[in-house]
Amino acid sequence: MNAIDESALASHCSQIRAGDRRALARAITLIESTRSDHRRQAEALIEALLPDSGKSLRIGISGPPGVGKSTFIEAFGQYAIERGRRLAVLAVDPSSRLSGGSILGDKTRMEALSRAEAAFIRPSPAGLTLGGVARRTREALLVCEAAGFDLILVETVGVGQSETAVAEMVDLFLLLLLPGAGDDLQGIKRGIMELADLIVVNKADGDFMAAAERSAADVANALGLMQPRHAGWRPEVLRCSALKNQGIDAIWARTQAFAAALSQSGAFDAQRREQAKAWLWHELSDSLLEALKADPHVAAKLGSLEAKVGAGKMAPGTAARELLAGFLAR
Ligand code: GDP
Repeated sequence: MNAIDESALASHCSQIRAGDRRALARAITLIESTRSDHRRQAEALIEALLPDSGKSLRIGISGPPGVGKSTFIEAFGQYAIERGRRLAVLAVDPSSRLSGGSILGDKTRMEALSRAEAAFIRPSPAGLTLGGVARRTREALLVCEAAGFDLILVETVGVGQSETAVAEMVDLFLLLLLPGAGDDLQGIKRGIMELADLIVVNKADGDFMAAAERSAADVANALGLMQPRHAGWRPEVLRCSALKNQGIDAIWARTQAFAAALSQSGAFDAQRREQAKAWLWHELSDSLLEALKADPHVAAKLGSLEAKVGAGKMAPGTAARELLAGFLAR
């Protein structure tokens, strides 16, 4: 086991606190590494930077492919920067595991932001499961905060499980929809609607204007039947054109109102506390599972038990308990 080089750690931390982008990028590379010595260094770094983290508004941004997420982030991000914010854009995209490259958090799709001094853009870590991606993104988020970024956008694509993972790491969840939502709400599942604190119908411009208005009304109706996620905040539906830079000001204002309302009621900090506890449990179950899989005795028995379970000769519960008993006995 390599010991942590304390003085290197201290100097890396002060570079990050001073907002050194290279040091920040290096920290995130460390966080994304699966090497065990890197993991230990990353953990030491996060531990040291923890007191400097937390001072940001964390916004999750989701929506179906093509809805305009990167166009929106480009417009919204620039608006925020003009108001003195420093912005980090992170992404949670487990599909990049399959394609080998990330489609989210892609700098070429956020041209102006990627040139901005006050913005830091980092694509989704590749080659990990959703759990792994979520874990690394949570950690990257803390380090970005320690580097002085006070607005964090976490982008994710609106299909599958990744929204839930993102909702668990942000203060405000913003869902983007296309004009023409209506009947089936574009296949957006009710569960995802329920996560949203703000819903924005994008592309409210040109020929889409009337459709956007109808969609917004339909979505507002659907929302009215749902239980709000936070006491003191009713999710709202807004319209914008990210492309034409219209309606961004109103969305900005509502994000600030959301933060103010939740801070005042105490719900803001309460949610962060709950998220930190949930994170602890994710870490525990991930780590336990990793340890279990790495155990040579478990590995030795696993094949035959899997075969028995697959052949219907043993109940999965019995096999799991047998493996676990062997693991815990040591
Ligand atoms: P993403 O896949 O959700 O990130 O979507 P993109 O930001 O890449 O946008 C997909 C397409 O929609 C691009 O061709 C954009 O130019 C276009 N688009 C994005 N926002 C708007 C908008 O507000 N109005 C219109 N008309 N087109 C938009």
